[in-house]
Amino acid sequence: MTRRERTYTAAAILLTAAGLATVWHDQWWETGFFWLAAAGLYEGAARERRTRRARERAVAVRLQWLARGHAVIEPPQPCCRFWLSSDGAVHGHDCTRPPAARGSLTLAEQQALAWLDDELRDSA
Ligand SMILES: [Zn+2]
Repeated sequence: MTRRERTYTAAAILLTAAGLATVWHDQWWETGFFWLAAAGLYEGAARERRTRRARERAVAVRLQWLARGHAVIEPPQPCCRFWLSSDGAVHGHDCTRPPAARGSLTLAEQQALAWLDDELRDSA
């Protein structure tokens, strides 16, 4: 669970509880406001969760390709200026990559690429 996902969920729970408290005092406008805001935050948390899962699936697919030996190492094309200047760590608002592909490599991917690099050097 990402930090933003946790934050959205915690805020949505607080607003839901605040809405319940206003029900107790018959403050229906406030109840509607709190629950509407909570619904927006629940949606934000769900969107973050979908993005995180898509990223995890993309990493798993890349690791499977590396494990099968399908590693075609091509340098990634620059997607934005932030990516170029930050050495692949940060993407800008005008980035052309899909959000699931904007993360940097995981430790397992880095290790797999380092191993593959060693193998290629040994065989050359
Ligand atoms: Zn980018």
